[in-house]
Amino acid sequence: MAGPSVEADKVSGPEGAPPSSSRSSVYREVGPELFSDLRAAKYRRIVLQVPAGLTRNFASLGEEIRTATGAQVVHVTRACFGACDPPSPSEAPGAQAIVTLGHAPIPNMPLALPTYFVEMRTSEGDVQRLAGSVSRAGLPRRLGLVASVQHLELLPRLEVALGAQGFETHVGGGDRRLAYPGQALGCNYTTAQGLEGEVDGFLFVGTGLFHPLGLAFSVERPVWALDPLQVDVTPPLDREKMVQKRLLTIAKSMDARRWGVLVSSFAGQDRRAMASRLAEKATERGWSAEVLIFDRLDPRDLTGRDLDAYVSTACPRIALDDGSSYDRPVLTPPEFLSALGERPLLPYRFDTFH
Ligand code: SF4
Repeated sequence: MAGPSVEADKVSGPEGAPPSSSRSSVYREVGPELFSDLRAAKYRRIVLQVPAGLTRNFASLGEEIRTATGAQVVHVTRACFGACDPPSPSEAPGAQAIVTLGHAPIPNMPLALPTYFVEMRTSEGDVQRLAGSVSRAGLPRRLGLVASVQHLELLPRLEVALGAQGFETHVGGGDRRLAYPGQALGCNYTTAQGLEGEVDGFLFVGTGLFHPLGLAFSVERPVWALDPLQVDVTPPLDREKMVQKRLLTIAKSMDARRWGVLVSSFAGQDRRAMASRLAEKATERGWSAEVLIFDRLDPRDLTGRDLDAYVSTACPRIALDDGSSYDRPVLTPPEFLSALGERPLLPYRFDTFH
């Protein structure tokens, strides 16, 4: 590959910034421990960030924090998709701390303010019934287990129950973007990728298809999903079809000569060094490349631009999950390198955000 490697860009935020662990506290759930820690820190102004799926109780939680601490509580209303997009200073002027719900910290992401992560864990789930469903669904005996942060606590008990059913289970450690072994993050499934040689399939434990889809792009083993609340095993997604769709998108961008390189300013999505290198690769070929900076991207922001295709260095799920909402092809960085002929199309490589 000519020039510096895109994969060499392993830094999620500004170089030299302290990692999040120096400024973060982690809680299983909203409770007395969180309130007493906030009270002890004597904050006057706290910003509360709640992801889309948990907004129902945000007002009462704000009131609880206010009552317990005496601090003013400000709500961030924009949708929050991950620990990667903490509130900016302009969203929370004067705030001294952030309370964020439903996400684990991203250990290698710098934090501008002390941040209190409430992971909203649950240990709900009858592991004997769950293991029975897995067994009846005919999964391979050598299984890698991956879970959303909310359901991680099920894994040790589920391993024992699956072991009793004759399964050999593995839980892998991830890279420095992940806080826990076995953890799934929509942009990083290194807990699974490290196990590929030892297992014949993966079992995702959690709800919805967001993680099974990302996991299926990341590993070349079938991925089943186990909903611990519904006791339901979902058969593997058709990885070949998913990859074919991406290859088609790459093919559509092959004639592109005017590229937009997308960069998010969110602390945990910011890969502007990588964006510069990708833009250089385009210009070395005599093509044009405009770097477009945003925080949260709306497809309407890109309509009407004089560009043929985009490569997104922001959240990889913009291209993979939402790509059809854009009127031009949107590639991930590894896909862009394939479009340039710098890496083979196959095996397909997920844009793991390190
Ligand atoms: S970059 Fe995307 S997938 Fe990763 S944590 Fe952020 S929103 Fe989730």
